[in-house]
Amino acid sequence: MRPLTYSRARDVDDALALVAAGPDSAFLAGGTTEIDLIRAGVSRSGHLVDINDLPLTAVEDRPDGGLHIGSLARMNDVARAPGVVSRFPAVSQALLQGASEQLRNMASLGGNLCQRTRCPYLRDGVSPCNKREPGSGCAALDGPNRGHAILGTSDRCIATHPSDVAVALVAFDAVVHTVGAVGGRAIAADDFFLLPGATPEVEHPIAHEELIVAVDVPGDPIAAGSVYLKFRDRQSYEFALVSVAAAIAVDDGVVTGVRLALGGVGTKPWRARRAEAALVGGPADEAAFRRAAAAELAGAVARGPNTFKIELAQRAMVRGLVQSLKGTRS
Ligand code: SF4
Repeated sequence: MRPLTYSRARDVDDALALVAAGPDSAFLAGGTTEIDLIRAGVSRSGHLVDINDLPLTAVEDRPDGGLHIGSLARMNDVARAPGVVSRFPAVSQALLQGASEQLRNMASLGGNLCQRTRCPYLRDGVSPCNKREPGSGCAALDGPNRGHAILGTSDRCIATHPSDVAVALVAFDAVVHTVGAVGGRAIAADDFFLLPGATPEVEHPIAHEELIVAVDVPGDPIAAGSVYLKFRDRQSYEFALVSVAAAIAVDDGVVTGVRLALGGVGTKPWRARRAEAALVGGPADEAAFRRAAAAELAGAVARGPNTFKIELAQRAMVRGLVQSLKGTRS
């Protein structure tokens, strides 16, 4: 057994000081799964700084029609906030399709964004895994990898990012706000998740003693007609094989704007920028949606068992766009 120490932070400055005091300290908040990771031998944290008392739970409407969400806002509270339901339904739907009712009452938005991949080789504590033990190899490359990524992979890691809500937040250009030793920073959500490249153990561009305090989503009228679709092996309490956040704006049959992101297929929440570029200015019909989806998946790299995701992702994108289009017409 490994000894653990514990503190409860009084405010943000206190939390930062407590974590900065030791290299093996870590923030503890709902959704981080830090305890699970310690038990699995993935995290080597020796001191936990509980931040659940910090006043970071607000879910507020911004004057531009966007959202300001405290990092400790609970998943269920964010999902059911009137401004989220009415102006960003894909964010609400993504949250409600994640985890279970009980977990959504405890998990925070910041914890959700920082959760680690569910790659079983990472969490079994013994398989070669470059995330857990840099340089040890990647058991998923040639092992059972049906759930693994096909976009953004490297020869060091092919793990998917597990969050649903991160997919919707990336689609709508959300911004992650942090505070740390150098003050406050604003990081585009798309940049908050790093590709594995040669250093899969580095997952976010933030320092050890840097804390997420809020997520802002800018006002975006297109988002009001958005949808989040999730395809998985069972209908609840399961991670996505493929998911899609989609929103489309059309004028006289021509696409004037589109937001599209994928989950379950990328090593990070995957903004489908190729597909978006292919769609804008073109016809808003299913054939165009199919061509755009194919363009996005053209760069996919499958490894046997996860090959089915290439087709499933394209179908998911088409269905998401069709449903969003129907919503804008009703
Ligand atoms: Fe580890 Fe990534 Fe390979 Fe999974 S896919 S075993 S997390 S290196």
